[in-house]
Amino acid sequence: MRHRRPYDSVLDTIGWTPLIRLSRVARGIRTPLYGKADFFNPGGSVKDRIGMPMIEAHEAAGTLKPGGVIVEATSGNTGVGLAIAAALKGYRCIFTMPDKMSQEKVRLLKAFGAEVIITPTAVPPDHPQNYVQMAKRIVRETPGAVLAGQFENPANPAAHVATTGPELWEQTEGRITHFVAGAGTGGTITGVARYLKSRNPKIKIIAADPQGSVLAELWRTKGEGHPTGAPYKVEGVGQDCVPATLDMAMVDEFISVSDKDAFTMARRLTREEGIFVGGSAGMIAHAALTVARRLDDPEALVVTFLCDTGERYLSKVFNDEWMRENQLLDSPHTSIESVLGNKDASAP
Ligand code: PMP
Repeated sequence: MRHRRPYDSVLDTIGWTPLIRLSRVARGIRTPLYGKADFFNPGGSVKDRIGMPMIEAHEAAGTLKPGGVIVEATSGNTGVGLAIAAALKGYRCIFTMPDKMSQEKVRLLKAFGAEVIITPTAVPPDHPQNYVQMAKRIVRETPGAVLAGQFENPANPAAHVATTGPELWEQTEGRITHFVAGAGTGGTITGVARYLKSRNPKIKIIAADPQGSVLAELWRTKGEGHPTGAPYKVEGVGQDCVPATLDMAMVDEFISVSDKDAFTMARRLTREEGIFVGGSAGMIAHAALTVARRLDDPEALVVTFLCDTGERYLSKVFNDEWMRENQLLDSPHTSIESVLGNKDASAP
């Protein structure tokens, strides 16, 4: 049983996140649907799992020395995971972040003492202003600096082979039949897939991808196509090229999801299940519901991934004005009429 004994540090509380049945949003569907609640990690996201392993890989390789600097290109959550580990180890952190990411995430990274550099989102991957290129430049020009490298560091998927995969196997007593996740670096889906398929090769791995990301099309064309990406609002998932940490061969199916469907599901999870999550969790849950509905099989067991906390998106997904400005919400303004029903608001 967890939490019965004190821990040496907050790092020991990472992982062994709860698996929670999503019975309200899956009402009427016979397939059991569960969510792996990684927003329970101390930094509020799945990315806490990879912070320390990536740092330790650099220490072991001799690329990171005491007093060194950790640099990373991050949509925010990896920065938090790294910042937690760096706080305990005494490293300085510098993060680059595309300007589409929420203000809450920028403030959060600064709260941990990290230096944050904001870069334009709408530039090609090889542009010098791209957040990954910018992080590489900072490493080149800063003594003692190393790129944590979530997009290429094998410690990223390996952390999920070592923790997330075995947790899911044990929590479902080996009964999991379908695992649905997004891919940002692809570390989660690749690591979990490697572990689960080693236990049971029949387990299906389904990737949810934002409409506008090129990953789904590259998977369908086996890397032969030349899809051009389009902007989308959901954060932390989707790509404009395939990162080294994403093993496309592990994926059995890709499902593309619109921003509107992703955010609607994040709001439903919060209001119907009491599970407060961000847009990527909504996107994945939307795809997982599609799978569960299609199967309609009580013997199957579908697991979706609840990547991070909704607190990170109070100014966006959970802000009606922002949702409406972006044509993502149909419902009318909250008014006295809508609260009281259609009664005359001016009545005493
Ligand atoms: N959701 C959110 C909110 C994230 O920040 C990330 C990581 N970028 C992911 C999902 C995807 O995780 P991974 O990088 O392991 O594919």
